[in-house]
Amino acid sequence: MPLDPPCIFCRIVQGKAEASLVYRDSLVTAFMDMNPIAPGHVLIVPNDHVPDLASLEAEAGSQMMSTAGRLSQALRRAPLEVEGVNLHLSDGAAAGQEVFHCHLHLIPRHAGDGIGFRRGLAHHDRDRADLDQVASMIRAGLTDGANT
Ligand code: 5GP
Ligand code: ZN
Repeated sequence: MPLDPPCIFCRIVQGKAEASLVYRDSLVTAFMDMNPIAPGHVLIVPNDHVPDLASLEAEAGSQMMSTAGRLSQALRRAPLEVEGVNLHLSDGAAAGQEVFHCHLHLIPRHAGDGIGFRRGLAHHDRDRADLDQVASMIRAGLTDGANT
């Protein structure tokens, strides 16, 4: 690990950049997003620098997800008007990823908050033959031999 990493999330993990920490263990760190979509918006990152989801080790990924579960409960207990939580991960620039250190967003939600995803694929791949064909194209891209 470089002594003075250029990656802002590595710098936060190493205590070299300021952040409001929520949780930390040997694998992951959680801190407040500096530009929250809603009050309580938390980011969970692996402590080791990995730029994207495919590079994330299973152990760190699993710890990110179990931390998300614990924090989603803590968010509901906090006096923040949290009724639900969205998990969001942007993998790749086209998906909106801006910081290339893999991270999971926890976005607190409550009824009528107006937050939502736009749906852009409403008219594609609805029938079974299309879905089967796309499933087969994706299966062909699996490199670890997994198949159904
Ligand atoms: P992305 O679009 O890559 O999924 O999300 C990056 C997130 O990181 C954004 O929500 C942005 O507000 C947050 N962010 C970027 N730089 C910093 C920073 O220096 N500190 C903190 N706490 N959050 C940051
Ligand atoms: Zn990093």
